Order: sequence, then structure tokens, then C-alpha cells
Amino acid sequence: MPGSLFALLRSRIPSQGKTLIETPEGARITYGDMLARTGRLANALVGLGVKPGDRVAVQVEKSPENLMLFLAVMRAGAVYLPLNTAYTTHEVEYFVSDAEPRLLVCDPAKRDGLEPIAALRGAVLHTLDADGRGSLADLAAAAPEAFEDVGRAGHDLACILYTSGTTGRSKGAMLTNANLGSNADTLVKYWRFSETDVLLHALPIYHTHGLFTAAMTVMLSGGSMLWLQKFDADQVIAALPRVTTLMGVPTHYVRLVQHPGLTREATAHMRLFTSGSAPLLAETHETFKAKTGHAILERYGMTETGMNTSNPYDGERIAGTVGFPLPDIAVRVANPGSGEVLPAGEVGVIEVKGPNVFAGYWRMPEKTREEFRPDGFFITGDVGMIDARGYVHIVGRAKDLIISGGFNVYPKEVESEIDLLPGVVESAVIGCPHPDFGEGVTAVVVKAPGATLTERDVITALEGRLAKFKLPKRVLFVDELPRNTMGKLQKNVLRDQNKTLYG
Ligand code: ATP
Ligand code: MG
Repeated sequence: MPGSLFALLRSRIPSQGKTLIETPEGARITYGDMLARTGRLANALVGLGVKPGDRVAVQVEKSPENLMLFLAVMRAGAVYLPLNTAYTTHEVEYFVSDAEPRLLVCDPAKRDGLEPIAALRGAVLHTLDADGRGSLADLAAAAPEAFEDVGRAGHDLACILYTSGTTGRSKGAMLTNANLGSNADTLVKYWRFSETDVLLHALPIYHTHGLFTAAMTVMLSGGSMLWLQKFDADQVIAALPRVTTLMGVPTHYVRLVQHPGLTREATAHMRLFTSGSAPLLAETHETFKAKTGHAILERYGMTETGMNTSNPYDGERIAGTVGFPLPDIAVRVANPGSGEVLPAGEVGVIEVKGPNVFAGYWRMPEKTREEFRPDGFFITGDVGMIDARGYVHIVGRAKDLIISGGFNVYPKEVESEIDLLPGVVESAVIGCPHPDFGEGVTAVVVKAPGATLTERDVITALEGRLAKFKLPKRVLFVDELPRNTMGKLQKNVLRDQNKTLYG
């Protein structure tokens, strides 16, 4: 395999005229156009002083040009650093001071706010808008197409991706050319991507899911993408006849199953639906299957590692599991404290090792050391178990574990019982500071419209089904649970809102 990610991609280009990206508005970018546009952009980057290894931080709206910018950064041998478009100027300031990029690319609307921050940190600032216009695009338009790709070794840094910040402050994960190339290549084979595929791309591209799992996998297979600015259920349903595959987060599938347009006919020619970034409820999986005949393939990954496990392409896709370790990736479950590897069926922390595992957290050597075992396994921070058939089950996050009166309570066990009750849509169980118990088990529940369920009803229903120490001390009702754009449940928000619940 070539050392640099772009050299690998280049080696897979089916033909210059093959479509890489199409938009519903009628724009079309071929692989040949991609080479031309990334060549111009790479020349512009070099003209701005971007050298191999320099960081290029990018906070712009999703657009084909944004993807071209990522590829141009690869061609220039620099390090791509995408930032969530929802981050405020204040938040971007943290990332800029942490990563010290040579160039910061932002939306023109954010220019005034970010200019002083970039100047203070010695970064050049340029703009790119949702239509691919801006000062960087102007520089690229004036630059030549021909560009000689900068060579990179497999172990050289390709990207720094900040984690989603679900459990604390986002950490910069250093991903090498080999990490990204090997993982996307594995997915091409495991999920059988080919030149005949068209992926409906409706994910953001500042996150590992949309950028690597989706776009990189398609590009390494020589396939095409139908590119949506964001997920919109009507638009997705309308686009289905033009595509063969869709990758989504669980909230996307929740919205699709509620849509009258989701039918067997509408999805008849689809080859694959995948889900990840957050747990897919077994109920969503089953409803989707009943309506379409398709079993959504759930897989498990993270910013630091890309994809680790996947339900099988051919074998049984089991709802509520994330499938088997991918080829060349070792997955085990260990005792969080001692590190002792646990047998099948026992719950512990999930650890992984393989060519996909990142090179460490950017400028956090201490944190990096803490998260690796002496034999090189990365401690994911996810709690799970591997069943007798080898399927991996995610139980939750180590940081969400509740310790109440000295007993461990896994929120998922309590949530699963609550979710079975009539009138419950979904629930989140958290630990809130409690004067007697350390943490008090607290259930936050979304009721179905018209349901009359009370706090007492929930607790009574759980008595006899769960040990006393697992029973919620309080049940709170809300209209909806807080989620971020990747569909991740923000338990930290719930904990924060309820930190004084027990005095
Ligand atoms: P942070 O590390 O900053 O707290 P984060 O872990 O949410 O944020 P990401 O790297 O975007 O940041 O997300 C990876 C996490 O998403 C995994 O560790 C896991 O907890 C969760 N996840 C991904 N896929 C699945 C899945 N199929 N089922 C359950 N959880 C999943
Ligand atoms: Mg994480």
C-alpha cells in the first residue's frame, strides 16, 4: 500500500471521467475535476506558506469544495484539521491555540471574529463559503492545476481530528496516513464497495463518520456520492432511487422510519444501510426491517481508531450489537482496573489494537500514555462484552457508569427496562450527586404523546425486575433528550442540569 493517503486514492481512480460527486442541484465533479481542483488548491496552500506537517484548520460549511480542500491538504503533505461548524469563535480559539495551524479557513461570516485570533497565533486566515466561494477559492482559481504531490510515509500525520466532546473537553486525535488508508480499505472490502456504488452522503464532513467512513471509503472504491448539504428525511427519501448505499446515525434512521415514503419499493434496489456514532435502538432496527426488508448494518468506531467492529455483510446482523472485530483489528474486553482480559460474556472496558489505532492525542503525552496498555492496546473508554458467538455488545461509556452506595450500576440495564414500559419513547439513566449514596440513580424519560405515566408508575414497574440499588431514586420527564449533530446523547448536559437534584 502506498505511504500517503492521496497516493493510495490516486492509485484507485477508475477513470478521469467517472463521477465522484453529484448534488441534487445538478453539480457534478468527476475524478478528473477532483485532480484539477485539488491541484489548484494545493498550489494555493503552498503559496500561503503551508509546508509538509503544517496544520490547516478548517471550519466551513459542508460543500464539495470543502472535500477538495481536505484532499489538497493531503497532496501538500500538510495536516488537515476539520472543526465542527457549530463551534463558537471562543471554542475555535481553543483549537487554534492548541493546534497552532499555519492556515485557518473559515466561513466569510466568521471572518471578523476569527481574524484577531488567527493573527495572535500566527495563522493566515482565508474564507470558503457553503457554495465553495471565498478568498481561498479565489487564490485557487488563479493557481495552476499541475501539482506534484508531496510524498508522505505511512506513519506521517495526515489529520488531527478532535473527538466529539461527549465526555469532556475534545481531544485532538493524531491520525496517520496508514491509519486512514488501512481503515477505509478494510471497509471497501468488508462492505463490498465498488465502482458501481453511489453513496448518499448526508453526514457532516468535520467528523470521522462523514469524512473517513463515508467519503474516504467511497473514494478508495472508485465509486460516486450523491451529496446532500445535511440530512433531510424528505430529500433522502427522494434521492434513494439514485443511490445504492446510505450511511447514517441512529437519529437519521429514527426519522426515516417515521416517514411515509420509507417503503419496500423505495429501497428495493439499495444494497446497504449502515449505522453508527451512537447506539441504534433494536426497535429502530426492527421497524426499519419490517418496512423495507433491509437489516441496517450497525458498526462501532471512534475518532481515535476509525472503525473497529462491524456486523457482517453476509451473515446475521444482530440488532443491539456492533458485530465482529474487522480484519487485522484485535478487540478484547478487560477489567478496567487491573487490565486482566475477561472471558466471553463478561462486561468490562473495550480495548483495541490494529493499524487503525491513532498515534496519540495531540500534545497530551500523559493522557496518551494513560489510555494505552503496555502491550499496545488502546483503552476505548467504552464498556461492553463479547458474546459466545463473537458479537461485540456496547453497554455504555465507562464515564457514565453510576456508583451508588458502593454498587456499580450500568445505565443501559436500567434504560432497557424503562424502555419496555408502555408509554415510554426512550430514557437516559444518569448518576447525580447524592449526600448518602455518592450518586443517585436518576432516570430521564420521554413519554409517548398522551401517555399518563407517572414517576411512581415507573419506579413501581421496575421493582421486582431490578435489584433495589439499581432502582431510580427519581424519574424526570422531558420532551426530548439532548443530542448533538451526530445523534450522540449528551449525558453530561443532563448531569449538569440535575446536579443539585438531591441537595
Ligand atoms: P469524547 O471522546 O470527546 O468524549 P466521543 O467519544 O463521543 O467524544 P467520537 O469519537 O465522535 O467522540 O465518538 C466515538 C464514540 O461513539 C465511541 O467511543 C462510542 O462510545 C460511540 N459509538 C460509536 N458507534 C457506536 C455504536 N454503534 N453503538 C454505540 N456507541 C457507539
Ligand atoms: Mg471518545
